[in-house]
Order: sequence, then structure tokens, then C-alpha cells
Amino acid sequence: MSKKGDMLYAWTNDAEIQKKAELGGAVTSLWKYALEAKIVDAVFVVTKGVDLYDAKPVLITDAKDLASTAGSLHCGTLLLPKLIKKYYNGAKDMKIGVTVKGCDAMAFYELAKRKQINLDNIYMIGVNCGGSVSPVTARKMIKEKYDVDPEKVHKEEIDKGQFIIEYEGGHKGISVDELEEAGFGRRTNCRRCKMKIPRQADLACGNWGVIGPRAGKATFVEVCSEKGAALLDGAVKKGIIATEPANPKGLEIRGKVEGAMLKLGEKWRKKDFEGLGEGKDRLKKIMSETSRCIKCYQCIDVCPICYCVDCTTKNPTYVAPGELPVSFMFHLIRYAHIADSCVNCGQCEEVCAAEIPNALFMHSQQVELEKMFGHVPGMDMELPLMAFVEERSERARLKNTGSDMIYENVFNPVPK
Ligand code: FAD
Ligand code: SF4
Ligand code: SF4
Ligand code: SF4
Repeated sequence: MSKKGDMLYAWTNDAEIQKKAELGGAVTSLWKYALEAKIVDAVFVVTKGVDLYDAKPVLITDAKDLASTAGSLHCGTLLLPKLIKKYYNGAKDMKIGVTVKGCDAMAFYELAKRKQINLDNIYMIGVNCGGSVSPVTARKMIKEKYDVDPEKVHKEEIDKGQFIIEYEGGHKGISVDELEEAGFGRRTNCRRCKMKIPRQADLACGNWGVIGPRAGKATFVEVCSEKGAALLDGAVKKGIIATEPANPKGLEIRGKVEGAMLKLGEKWRKKDFEGLGEGKDRLKKIMSETSRCIKCYQCIDVCPICYCVDCTTKNPTYVAPGELPVSFMFHLIRYAHIADSCVNCGQCEEVCAAEIPNALFMHSQQVELEKMFGHVPGMDMELPLMAFVEERSERARLKNTGSDMIYENVFNPVPK
């Protein structure tokens, strides 16, 4: 019987999954077991869309359809939790299994603590994540740095620090460091990310630490919860996967790689945040960059922390409707409402029509707020100061009392 904290190598016994899997196919096989055993009603994962730059989310209810979702899409930058909130009623009435990167796992916790997702109905299998590449950047990078037509590429992988492509007539790898020096490579939020092994999930899977004869053929699995342990044991009992204890040397290597990735994340934070300047200089820079905003609301739509039904940015008292350039208040409202909980998922930057580095601005503030108030987003169910109220009842309170003090706090107690 496995338990929280166990470290294993796992591989599938399903030939079809093995063919498509990134490594041992443990993730897809565990979902197969979960669906067949009716532990979950559905599995929500990403799969290849029109090409390898196009990751698309799919809800799978029949285990027979799972094999096509195996494999890693390094240009897959989607964030799944908000889609579950929006389109599957926050998992309030069905049990859903989700493959999560670190940012997905963090977003799940932030939505759950605001009662937008029922975490009891969510099973998370985490994948370690060194970072993902924006599809637009990937195409440009392959054309300019690899001198290859992006349409001719049929496979990509990140291995031993290289981004490797296979295309008609050959394969080529370039180190991620070199690509990033040239302004390509991983998304900037991914470079700053320090959620490399998502231990908030029920299981955390990856390739770091798989050495010896199983290298490239097994998935490294860290058991992170009792729910995860039960899932793993059930799949082994059914013969869907096989496991063995992780090689101690592999375990050591995995620890070292994780440590090196965390240091790299810290290095990028320092570089990016220093580039923003401090105090008034930082404010001026943010005001100047955000002046391009066309108020398309995309950043709000994708952000896992933005969930208000009546968004304050749409209140004409604060932001005059139909005016461009948009008042800086639009951005101030976002900073004030969510900066303490930003999980640095990069979505708001990726979709921005005006190419404003929104995630950088928000993340830089989150890090400062974390130093001041100690709230670490995305790790547990601890609420930040600003989220102690429920939106609808808070709006009703404001309306009924005529108060203009948003949020109850020690200085502004709710009248009894
Ligand atoms: P499979 O059975 O092949 O299943 C893979 C699962 O991942 C499927 O459920 C699929 O839907 C899902 N998936 C694929 N692409 C994405 C995506 N972009 N976003 C969300 N879900 C996705 N492991 C490391 O040890 N070190 C790393 O640096 C590392 N970087 C990664 C970066 C990315 C962007 C991704 C997606 C994965 C990364 N992994 C990393 C994890 C590794 O590639 C494998 O996913 C993991 O080991 C599971 O292998 P498997 O054969 O069991 O998975
Ligand atoms: Fe991976 Fe972190 Fe980037 Fe999310 S933000 S894709 S977890 S590196
Ligand atoms: Fe993600 Fe941007 Fe929202 Fe932060 S502000 S959680 S980076 S979408
Ligand atoms: Fe403005 Fe960009 Fe947000 Fe659109 S996505 S509202 S342009 S900051």
C-alpha cells in the first residue's frame, strides 16, 4: 500500500497509451483507472488540436478516448481551473480528474478558497513543469533560430536543457538558455515560476529522477495525498500500471534539479523586477505601458483570481465607459483586488491585445505583498485579507447600509 511521501517509478501496461505517452504513461493510465472504476465522472485534460502549437482542452468520459490525450505539449499554455468554474459549474455536481501544471494547481486553490470550485470533487495529477513556450513565440523561434518551417515540425520536446524539434528531414536542439538570451524560449512568467513540482496535487509526476534502465520509459511519481495513494494502489491492483520504488540516486538527482530550477526562477525574478525600477519609477513605467490598454477585458476573463459577478472595472463611477485611453483606475482596481493572490500563471499577459506585460506587473506586486502580509497564494486554503467576504452578500450589505466601505475589516465592522 502506498502512502503520502512515497516516491516511485510507474509505467503503463496499456500498449495504446504507451505509444503516445511522454514517458511511462502513468498519468493517462491513472485516469483510465479512475474513469473505469467510476472514481471520477470525467477527466479534463489538454490534447493536441490542429497542430503541436495548439493545445485544446477536452472533457473525456469514456476511457477509450484517453490514449489520444497522452504526451506533453510544451506549447500548451492553457489554464484549466477557470474553465471548470465557467463551463462545469466549478465541479459542484460532478467529480473531475485534471492533469495540472503548477500554475493550474495554484489556481485551483485560489478558486476553491473563494468557493468557486469544489475541491472535494477534484482529483489532481500534477506534472512537474520546467516551463511552457507561447505558441506565437515557438513558431517565430523555430523559423528564426532553427531555420525550419514551423509547419514542418511534427514533434517537440524539452530534454537536458534543450528545446528539441523533429521535422521533415531531421531534428535539431538548441539550449533553452541560448534561446532565452535571444528573447525566445519559455514564457517570462514561467522563467520566474517556482512551482516546479506541484505537491498540492494528489500525485506529482515527471521525468526528473528516472535513471538507469527505466530512464525515458517510466514516470517518476511522488504521492502527495491519501487520495493520490488510493488512486495509485487501485490502478496497480487492476494491473493498469506497474510500479517500483524510485532509485535513491535518482531521488537525489531530482532534488538537485528542483533546487537548480528554483534558483533559476529566483534569478529571473530579480532580473525582471529590477528592470521595473522601484517606487515612483516603477509606477511611471506601469502607467506608461498600460496606457496602450484598449479595455478588451480579456485579462479579466482569463484570470483565475478574477471571479466577481459585478466587476468593479465596469462600474462607471470608477472607469468612464467608452473612453480611450482607459483611465489608470481600470488597472488599479485589478491590482488592488487580486495582486495579493496572483499565481503568476501568465494568462493575462498571453491574451493581452496590446501586449502589455500584465503578469509581470501583477507578479511583482504579489511578491511585495507576500513580504508584507505573508500570504502565499496557491499553496493551501488560507485566505488573504481581501477575500474574507463573499461577493454577493458584500454587495447586498453595501446596498442596504449605504456604506461605501468595501470589505468588512477591523476598522469597518459590519453593523449588527
Ligand atoms: P502521459 O501519460 O503522457 O500524460 C501526459 C498528461 O499531461 C496528459 O494528461 C496530458 O493531457 C497532459 N498535458 C500535456 N501537455 C500539457 C500542458 N501543456 N498542460 C497541461 N497538461 C498537459 N517533467 C519533469 O520532470 N521536468 C520538467 O521540466 C517538465 N516540464 C514539463 C513541461 C510541460 C509544459 C509539461 C506539460 C510537462 C512537463 N513535465 C516535466 C512532465 C512530463 O513531461 C510528463 O508530463 C510527466 O512525466 C508524465 O508523464 P506520463 O508519460 O506519465 O504522462
Ligand atoms: Fe509551468 Fe510555472 Fe509556467 Fe505554469 S507558470 S506553465 S507551472 S513554469
Ligand atoms: Fe494569472 Fe495574470 Fe491573474 Fe496573475 S493576474 S493570476 S498572472 S491571469
Ligand atoms: Fe487592457 Fe490588455 Fe487587459 Fe485587454 S487584455 S483589457 S488590452 S490590459
